[in-house]
Amino acid sequence: MAFIDLPTAADRLGISLTYFRDLIDRTDRKETVLDPDPTADFWSSSTAVIPERDLRTYEHMLARRRFVRFLEKYADVLVEGCELTVRPGWKSLLERVADRLRWMPPAWNARFRKAREKSGYMSLGFEYDSEREDARNEIARLREEIRLSSLSLCEECGRNGRFRYSDRSLTLCDRHARLAEPLRAGDGLMSDPLSDGAAISELPSD
Ligand SMILES: [Zn+2]
Repeated sequence: MAFIDLPTAADRLGISLTYFRDLIDRTDRKETVLDPDPTADFWSSSTAVIPERDLRTYEHMLARRRFVRFLEKYADVLVEGCELTVRPGWKSLLERVADRLRWMPPAWNARFRKAREKSGYMSLGFEYDSEREDARNEIARLREEIRLSSLSLCEECGRNGRFRYSDRSLTLCDRHARLAEPLRAGDGLMSDPLSDGAAISELPSD
């Protein structure tokens, strides 16, 4: 079996070494990294290697994280250069949004512009005919529906999860909760970072 070192692997995948290490960690694949130096630390080792054949696995993972198939499948309701900066666990929500756009009245000209992760929930951007009140109302409802749904789905894997309060607030299942560590005091006491009495009409809508 052929092995390659991590910098070479990252290079061939077209990603930075830091991102590659992070990807290995968050997909629970640290055990697949072999290190001839038993005292080396995963995050700083210069001797670590992976089986070369694992490159294909990482290529698939990266395609999934970049929503390559989603972008192809729903090209008809996406703006050119639709920006998706969310993790793969929320793919089902992206599909729900795109399916809803397909069924909106054609006169609204509604298109998916972006999806972002924003302190633990999904924030959506659209292009549509905002002069129309019916379109405005429906888009606002869709935004809030998806925002609330995202607060119960793990961003990383799509299993049931909850909002994790930290410097980098995320919605995660128990298995991925470590990605939000260190948690802040008060974690577990709130399910929605915006649920402090804000009305739906006051929510950010970029
Ligand atoms: Zn998870």
